Parts: sequence; structure tokens; C-alpha cells
Amino acid sequence: MTAVIEARGLQKKYGKHLAVDGIGLRVERGSVFGLIGPNGAGKTTTLRMLVDIIRPTAGELKVLGSVPRRSGIALRRRIGYLPGELKLAERIQGGTLLRHLAQISGPVEPSRIETLAERLGLDLSRPVRALSKGNRQKLGLIQAFMHRPELLILDEPTSGLDPLVQREFLAMVREAREAGQSVLLSSHILTEIQHTADDVAVLAGGKIIAHGDVSSLRLSSVTRLRAVLADTTTEAVRAALEALPSLQDIDTEATTSGDLVRLSATIRGDVDHVVKTLAQFTVHDLTVEEPDLEESILDLYARTNGTK
Ligand code: ATP
Repeated sequence: MTAVIEARGLQKKYGKHLAVDGIGLRVERGSVFGLIGPNGAGKTTTLRMLVDIIRPTAGELKVLGSVPRRSGIALRRRIGYLPGELKLAERIQGGTLLRHLAQISGPVEPSRIETLAERLGLDLSRPVRALSKGNRQKLGLIQAFMHRPELLILDEPTSGLDPLVQREFLAMVREAREAGQSVLLSSHILTEIQHTADDVAVLAGGKIIAHGDVSSLRLSSVTRLRAVLADTTTEAVRAALEALPSLQDIDTEATTSGDLVRLSATIRGDVDHVVKTLAQFTVHDLTVEEPDLEESILDLYARTNGTK
């Protein structure tokens, strides 16, 4: 397999602050790679180094086989980049802006801009200044995708998009992969991209603290479960959960309200055994929240540093 992005020991310092602390990355051609991490993790800084907006303090970096700081505009045209903070010309219409950008990054097929705008539900005739945050984001996405670049580098692409548009965007990402393009995208929400990314790296405090395929990361994440149980007592519920072999991975809180027992549990790993244990009671209500990435990452971070 060939890599479209290869980084080794990549570092960026701002004064004494290490925003990116010696990371390694390998994105295979034709794959979708998710860079996940909480605010301030170093995602934007990493992506900016890939497109040569900022330069690494140390480390090796190759994008599409070239070193970004030596490759200039020729490399840039092969990439579609969505910045984290979009700065757009305000006074012109969205469509005019995109056609102008197409002349720089092109060639762009006729009607490609209109097709993408229709898919994402963007009115191209409106001036940029009149567009909402989500609609501006759509403009940013169209300019990144329109010239069918070999590599898409997208910083928080789903930010500001409503769920339907988010779904359409993820379909566009999958189609890009099918067409042989490669995609690197960042997000602070794992669940948003877990069905789309082939590989994921978790960045926190400028370091990669976990990487692998999505299913392996999901298993190490933290899930919150809430249940309302009837015809039982808090003692019985606690005793049942304490009998679980992997008790060290669960924190529970059970309280009684009226005739009901309310259980709140934080589970590290697989929820299956907890759900099966609760099935012996009368279950009035059960919610299993999507893993909270922020929490999962803090948990992973604490464990990586040996404080847990
Ligand atoms: P977010 O999701 O909040 O954008 P992020 O993961 O993209 O977070 P970065 O923007 O890459 O994080 O920032 C990483 C760290 O580097 C932060 O601590 C940030 O304050 C710092 N940083 C980023 N840019 C600069 C800069 N130009 N000067 C000084 N510090 C910076």
C-alpha cells in the first residue's frame, strides 16, 4: 500500500508551548482517516502543517510523495482543503466565489458546482455575507471537493451542518474513497465519523494517544448507561452488577425513587454484559448514550499516563 500522508516525529512549538508533540501519521491511498481529539488537541495545527500554512518545528513530513514546504502550488492543487476557520470574500455571491476559486484550483467539470450545491442544499445566488454558519461551511466543502482532488484534508467538516446535510457530506466522503481519493478529516466527535473512517488516531495534548481501526477504538471508549428498574431494590441491582467479572470497568450509582430503582453507570468497554445482567429485572426505561469522546479521551489519557 502507498501512503498519501507520512509524518514522523512531527512537532510544532509556539514559544515554549508544544502544540504538536512529535506525532507519527500514515494515511493510505484510497482510505478515510479520522483525526479525533478535544479542543486544543493540536488537530488544526497538524492539518495546517500538511498544507504548508504553517511549518513544522521538527520532524519529517511527506504529502502525496512531496515535502509540503518545497512543493508549493503544484502540490496544493492536488489537495482539497477545508480550513477550520473559513475566511470568505463577503460581498459576492456564493456561486461567483466558487467559480473564481475553480479557476485557481481547477479544472472543475461544468455543472459540478451546481450539483454539489444541490446535494448540500446551498443557494448559490445569495451573497456570502447573508449566509448562515452552516451554509458557509457548505461553500467551504464545495470548494474542497469540486476539483476532485487526490487528497481531501478537512478540518471539522461537519461543524455547523444539520444532521441531514451531515449525512450527505459523509456520503460524499464515501464516494470520494470509492473513486480512489484519500480523505483525512478531523472531528471532536468520534460517533460522527465512526461509520466512515477506516482508521482513526486520537490526539490529545499534542500527542497521539490511541490509533487503530474504529471498532478497536470504540471498545476502549466510555459509555454512559441509565436504567429505571421496577420490582427490585438498589441492593439487588448492585449485587447483580458486582457479580460481573469486569466490575473494575464500571462505575455505578443506584438510587431509589418511589418503587423504582434508578441506575446510572459509566462503562469502559463493551456494554453487552451489563445490558444482559439488567435483563433479569423489570426494565421500565433504558438509555445507552453514544460514547462521549471527550470523556473517553480523558479516560484514555489518564490511563496512558498511569494515573488510573
Ligand atoms: P480546536 O478543535 O479547538 O480547534 P485543535 O485540536 O484544532 O482544537 P489547535 O488549534 O491545533 O487545536 O491548537 C493546539 C494548541 O496550540 C492549543 O493549545 C492552542 O492554544 C495552541 N496554538 C494554536 N495556534 C497557536 C498560535 N498561532 N500561537 C500560539 N499558540 C497556538
